[in-house]
Amino acid sequence: MQCPVDSTTLVSLTHHDVPTEYCPQCRGMWLWPGALQRIVEREVDEIEAFEATCRKEGPTSVAGLVTTAGIRR
Ligand SMILES: [Zn+2]
Repeated sequence: MQCPVDSTTLVSLTHHDVPTEYCPQCRGMWLWPGALQRIVEREVDEIEAFEATCRKEGPTSVAGLVTTAGIRR
């Protein structure tokens, strides 16, 4: 498959188990119909799982305050 912009041969990549085509020339990423929606749905699931873990464990398990200077305990 070739890039629709510059006709460079696209490189096949798998992102979150979704096949995508990457152009090394213009750094464009081309997705099959429905692929972007699958990636977004997957990432939403991961964020919700992370938030659920945070709520379950509570604030006492937080190791420290993350600042631009690093982790302050
Ligand atoms: Zn391209």
